[in-house]
Amino acid sequence: MPVRNVVLYPDERLRKKCRRVKEVNDEVLRLIEDMVETMYAERGVGLAAPQIGVNRRVIVVHAHQAEDDPRSRLLGIVNPEIVERGQSSEFDEEGCLSIPGIRGDVLRHTEIVIEALDHEGDEIRLKLNEFEARVFQHEMDHLDGILFTDHLDGLTREVLLRQYEVQQAEEKGK
Ligand SMILES: [Zn+2]
Repeated sequence: MPVRNVVLYPDERLRKKCRRVKEVNDEVLRLIEDMVETMYAERGVGLAAPQIGVNRRVIVVHAHQAEDDPRSRLLGIVNPEIVERGQSSEFDEEGCLSIPGIRGDVLRHTEIVIEALDHEGDEIRLKLNEFEARVFQHEMDHLDGILFTDHLDGLTREVLLRQYEVQQAEEKGK
């Protein structure tokens, strides 16, 4: 199960709408395994397939990673759709493995219901709330080519992305 390289902004592969998975076969299972390894290696709480350069509607999420947290669960999810959204939304800080080093406040629904296939290809319906719901919304955005910075107001986005570009240039210069 190799750790894959994470695709970094402004790579165009992050802007593509991803294709649905027709069948959850061994290839998809291997993709999910690689995504899990990559997510843990990068200390992320979620990862979407386009972030390792794969144009498929697949995400992995492990929002509460502390072993003693009763909410701790690792999910490999295929073709997720939001079928219900709760009334309330809240702002909280987000970051992204594809735009490392910057964080911004994003408004998300605090409760959603999704329908999807799990890693075995079974149809599932999940009610998600709080942080896990936030991670799902962030990762599902990736499947439509949307990044968390797209949700920020114009000036905040410009300032943060400028910071990011400077940091990336410094990284390359090292
Ligand atoms: Zn992200």
